[in-house]
Amino acid sequence: MIDFSGVSKTYPNGTHALNNVNIHIDRGEFVFIIGSSGAGKSTFLKMIMREEVPSSGGIVIDGIELNSLKASKIPYYRRKLGIVFQDFRLIPNRTVYDNVAFAMHVIGAKNKDISRRVAYALSLVGLSVKAKCYPNELSGGEQQRVALARALVNKADIIVADEPTGNIDPEMSREIVDLLSHINANNNTTIIMVTHEVDLVKQYNKRMITIKNGTVISDTAHPEIIVEEIPERVETAPRAFYEAPLEDDDIESFIQNYGKHSADTANSSENNAETANSEDSAV
Ligand code: ADP
Repeated sequence: MIDFSGVSKTYPNGTHALNNVNIHIDRGEFVFIIGSSGAGKSTFLKMIMREEVPSSGGIVIDGIELNSLKASKIPYYRRKLGIVFQDFRLIPNRTVYDNVAFAMHVIGAKNKDISRRVAYALSLVGLSVKAKCYPNELSGGEQQRVALARALVNKADIIVADEPTGNIDPEMSREIVDLLSHINANNNTTIIMVTHEVDLVKQYNKRMITIKNGTVISDTAHPEIIVEEIPERVETAPRAFYEAPLEDDDIESFIQNYGKHSADTANSSENNAETANSEDSAV
């Protein structure tokens, strides 16, 4: 389902973020991507999200060749993905229900489907009773569960979780990983969870891929991958991107960017296919 073949990434400032990464992840797998800060984990995720393209090598996800994917098709591709961030990225002035529903509104889902799916997603994360609350009325763990419901509500094939437990306490962290495991086991959703919390990961018997200095140094599914010599890290750039808290408007445009129903650009057959998909998808 996810294939990285010889993927390297050098940013314009000369930083080598990934070096010859070869990874195959099957549909329905749960994989932890581990590495310390600057290892290349976010770059790996940005490639999956098609925010960055490799400098060399290829990526195929669910049969889609990402390097050559046209810009107009990217929002459709991203509907396969449900994304969960360390800082939750909920819209503060909207209720829990509306935060989850918003992800469906932007792809043009019907109201009937929205109410059904949102109720389902909130029940899946155990937050039906908090539907009318605002994010600041919830604990960190609960906010992350809302973000997870939002990621799930459009039936993503792949959940990409970028340090989802980074801002919550250890007990809640387990809850989030347990929930991800549950979703993985019950819905056959592929889960890619990036983290630097090795102690947390060790509590689960799941595939672990370790990245160091842009290189995969171990993969428990392929124990033979243990690189003796770690390449020297080339000078690192300041990490001023990606971590700045987003303003409300930014969050809204972020969500829209990830699945906007581009009726103006999409051709009608695509629209029909989308409608058909949402129609036949029983909750
Ligand atoms: P991690 O997520 O493991 O902390 P990243 O993928 O964010 O690692 O970063 C890997 C390396 O690439 C780091 O040295 C980082 O400074 C650099 N880097 C990441 N994004 C950019 C960028 N847009 N421009 C330049 N360098 C970057």
